[in-house]
Amino acid sequence: MKEGKIVYINLSSGKIEEIPIKKDVRERFIGGRGLGTYLFSERIGNDSPDPLSEENPVIIATGPLTDSPLPMTGRVSLTTRSPLTGTILDSNVGGTFGTLLKRAGYDAMIIEGKAHEPVYILIDESSIEVRSARNLWGSDTLKTSEKLKEEHGKGLSVISIGPAGENTVRFACVMENGKRAFGRGGAGAVFGSKNLKAIAVHGRKTKRTQRSEKLSDYRYEIMRLITTHPLTSKLLPSLGTAGTMRVINSFKTLGTRNFQKGFFKNAEAIGGEKLKKGFLKSRSGCFGCPVLCERVCELNGRKVSGPEFETLWALGANLEIDDLPFIITLNEMANLLGVDTISLGSVIGFAMELKERGIADLGVEFGNTNGILSLVEDIAFRKERGEILSLGVKKASEITGGREFAMHVKGLELPAYDPRGALGMGLGYATSNRGACHLRGGFSVSFEIYGVPRRINRFQALGKGAHVARAQDIGAIADSLIICRFAFLSTSLHHWARALSVIEEVEYTSSDLQKIGERIFNLERLINLRLGFSHEDDTLPDRIKKGIPLEEMLQEYYEYRGWDRKGIPAKEKIAELFKEGEPKWL
Ligand code: SF4
Repeated sequence: MKEGKIVYINLSSGKIEEIPIKKDVRERFIGGRGLGTYLFSERIGNDSPDPLSEENPVIIATGPLTDSPLPMTGRVSLTTRSPLTGTILDSNVGGTFGTLLKRAGYDAMIIEGKAHEPVYILIDESSIEVRSARNLWGSDTLKTSEKLKEEHGKGLSVISIGPAGENTVRFACVMENGKRAFGRGGAGAVFGSKNLKAIAVHGRKTKRTQRSEKLSDYRYEIMRLITTHPLTSKLLPSLGTAGTMRVINSFKTLGTRNFQKGFFKNAEAIGGEKLKKGFLKSRSGCFGCPVLCERVCELNGRKVSGPEFETLWALGANLEIDDLPFIITLNEMANLLGVDTISLGSVIGFAMELKERGIADLGVEFGNTNGILSLVEDIAFRKERGEILSLGVKKASEITGGREFAMHVKGLELPAYDPRGALGMGLGYATSNRGACHLRGGFSVSFEIYGVPRRINRFQALGKGAHVARAQDIGAIADSLIICRFAFLSTSLHHWARALSVIEEVEYTSSDLQKIGERIFNLERLINLRLGFSHEDDTLPDRIKKGIPLEEMLQEYYEYRGWDRKGIPAKEKIAELFKEGEPKWL
């Protein structure tokens, strides 16, 4: 097991110190999301931190495979308490930040406190400084990144917030180099509450894993699977994530008109093929990835990043808008202001339905682009009609009315997939530890629609509990290693367990990894229970709950997980997964 190092930075006191990662922690929680969850659980102590308080930690963690020769391992994870949901939140992003952080010598960072003025953190392999960001405050995410690169060199990687994070919009995101997002759950607002504008890292000392014959063999095998599977060698490189639009719509699983329907008749107008034909300039991707699923589009002579499938859905089908140039413009605007496009699409859809039902007129209506750009600006700056929507759909509906069509679980707005067309997605949204998330929920469309690794009847409730729980645990380990989720379309845990064993010099089997994933998921659950969540919160919006046998699936799910009928992990399960006295606050 290799040694690891965390840097702790307190923005209130200015204290900066290095903390070693205990071998035992690394072995049982791996890195990324797992390490973040463990460190978060250690820090919450007897009090639950208010998400926008000094006490709420921001934990950024790489994984054991970061900066290794293995493909699709360039992501980095962020853990905190969400100001949107109040749950534990983990989020991850691709690009280069994680690799450079590791090259600077750190496996993770913990940031606490609140700076007395806007600051950014500058890290390289020889120093860590907290500097004034007065001249950056108010800048958009791309400008922030560009200005810091001008000052400190092009090789820098920057994560930053835009005006939305500064104004603590509850679904503000943190952007990597102005292009990719730690998207969901409002980590940008946590940065803003700490007066933390950006973190810039320039790590040059690669400590790449010793290349052994075994690792080369495993790498070759993984590469071969990725570059020959139709999804990772053809669909994603050619059409990006947007290539899935047509498929999901054809299965009537594409949330449309704020989930009033599951089918958008103009879906092809905003799909991957149209994007490729009309706007695609080049492809891009995360560090060391052969798939390059990211789109670089050209609009009015400007190169812009994206949009991805979820954004095309949220700002397109969900609003019944089929104007692709408009969606590209709106996506760019959201990225620059620093807001999660899924939640943004959902609050706009909610506002449209308020108007449709005559409850309130916020100046936007389904199928019409008028008024949307100015509404987004109002949301980011929390002005007038944007103030209520900046709190997210759940809080907004408690103020304006319309709870019955507020599309969220635990306060996190729903993504694209309509669970009425894939029941496992419904169970996944209800039980995901950060609220309605397709990925943390187990991404069951993988087996319900794509048949990967094998097809399971999408309308059948029986058996979904076990399938969803297993997929959630695999997701937890993928986010901890930390590997792109798309890697699991063409490879399995077994391949990564072998490669990890070589890198960490500890034997892991695929079932060891599955168990670690289960430990991480259960620790998140225990944290959420401690933060005040219960069985009552494992639910779905009224609009889609009808016709979904949720309680039946939930009870099967709880039983499979070794939880009681109220969704509380049984003593035996806790003893099986954790050491005695862990978590210490239980
Ligand atoms: S498939 Fe896409 S998201 Fe995943 S690592 Fe590659 S470029 Fe990044």
